[in-house]
Amino acid sequence: MITDMEGVSGIFDIELQCEPYKSPRWEESRKLLTGEVNAAADGLFDGGATEVIVWDGHDSGHTLSVLDIHPRVRLLTGTPVLPALPIDSSVSALIFIGQHPMAGAANGILSHTEDAAGVQNWWANGKPVGEIGIWTMVAAEARVPTIMLSGDTAACKEFLDLVPNGECAEVKSGVSRTAGFMLPHAAATALIREKARRAMERLAEIRPYKVTGPVELKIEYTTAGVRQPTDRPREGVVQLGPRTWLFRGRTFTEAVFLAFSM
Ligand SMILES: [Zn+2]
Repeated sequence: MITDMEGVSGIFDIELQCEPYKSPRWEESRKLLTGEVNAAADGLFDGGATEVIVWDGHDSGHTLSVLDIHPRVRLLTGTPVLPALPIDSSVSALIFIGQHPMAGAANGILSHTEDAAGVQNWWANGKPVGEIGIWTMVAAEARVPTIMLSGDTAACKEFLDLVPNGECAEVKSGVSRTAGFMLPHAAATALIREKARRAMERLAEIRPYKVTGPVELKIEYTTAGVRQPTDRPREGVVQLGPRTWLFRGRTFTEAVFLAFSM
């Protein structure tokens, strides 16, 4: 389970809610996310999962706590964790909880791609993607299907575009990037539990996304986030323009790690 905060019901403002231990409503946000994560874990176990690994994915893994996380999950928290993120053949499925849509998504609540200040756009083999697309493709390479997502209407649309028969818990709907209709927490968690159970029960029907080569990740950075050309050229890294770089890998995972190590 990949977790984030911007897609949790009730969340609509970064400064007010999402900055760890700085936002005035941080403790409330933490509780809202924890409730959704625990509901998803309950649903997965209801549906037959034997083990659930939860990655604390929002802002360097400072959010979830062993104090109130579901007693049966294994929590991966802190930073950096990427090489340890077990999206490989040891897991049977991937789900997203509290996931936000990609940068630029229409009425996507708190839409951004990876780092809102530093990244303008990502393309995977020419297809515009955000975290939903990237992790779905990384998982797909290991033959792991992404079976469920919870988030706003735009995030659900983005997920269903990749996995048409996946299960989606649409817990909020944006009317702008920073406003929208929110499901009450009790209703959001009930919906998430139900969808997670359904996804787990339908595991065999939901196929991994099909990644076709060549494997290229193109990143357009913002003016603030732009990378400086290094002295020594790196294999697989090509600068296409003043703010745009291309990362090529033998596998999609390799291209992503190349980009993340810039
Ligand atoms: Zn986040």
